[in-house]
Amino acid sequence: MKLLGQNKTLYLIRFDDACPTMKKENWARIEALMDKYEIKPIVGIIPHNEDATQFFDKENLAFWNKVQAWQNKGWEIAMHGYCHQYISKQGGLNPMWNRSEFAGVPLNLQKDKIRNGVQIFKNHNVNIRIFSAPSHTFDEITLQALMEESDIRIISDTIALRPYKDGMFTFIPQVCGHCTRMPLFGVFTFSYHPSTMKEDEFVELEKFLDRFRHSFVSFGDLSMPEKGKNFIDKLISWCFFTQRKLRGLK
Ligand SMILES: [Zn+2]
Repeated sequence: MKLLGQNKTLYLIRFDDACPTMKKENWARIEALMDKYEIKPIVGIIPHNEDATQFFDKENLAFWNKVQAWQNKGWEIAMHGYCHQYISKQGGLNPMWNRSEFAGVPLNLQKDKIRNGVQIFKNHNVNIRIFSAPSHTFDEITLQALMEESDIRIISDTIALRPYKDGMFTFIPQVCGHCTRMPLFGVFTFSYHPSTMKEDEFVELEKFLDRFRHSFVSFGDLSMPEKGKNFIDKLISWCFFTQRKLRGLK
């Protein structure tokens, strides 16, 4: 049965910044955890990493074999930007931070990024249906670029209680950078960055998985919404970004 979180609390987990120079040891630990608790995550791959902060280990020449193996296990592969370099100080439609690879960037450049990124996945026989931008920041132009240069119509990001439709796109909200119990019905995505995870974060994550493993679903378990954001989701989103502004988080 397909789920939409109408009368249940469902969790998705997303791991970002996979690339050939990721910290292999940490990623192996994440994979072992997912296998142990039989959870199929979303993995955000940087198709052409040029971000110096993502150089943890020497380049893994077999990286794309690993991505294919993840895909074969039922993990959902997402395109996490293109080169992961921030070239704008804008927050766009989902202003989690005032920095972006996409928000505020001209259409032609955004189209180049999307086209080149999609081609890299194609070259390695990896299917992608989801886009997530570095620092969660993108704008209307990013959506236009995705329309013109890809088949991707799903975004893993924005603040809401459950997936919703807006124009041609489906949004799977992403609410928190670590697992935490949600006292509401809905679909909640937690996102981690395995390469920088510390020992205590692994321990906390495993504790949560052990307790709530039955609330985790895979992206493929979700039914796609037909409706847009409702009033409550709009209110939650407004409150979230207002308190973030007031706290000076950028
Ligand atoms: Zn990232």
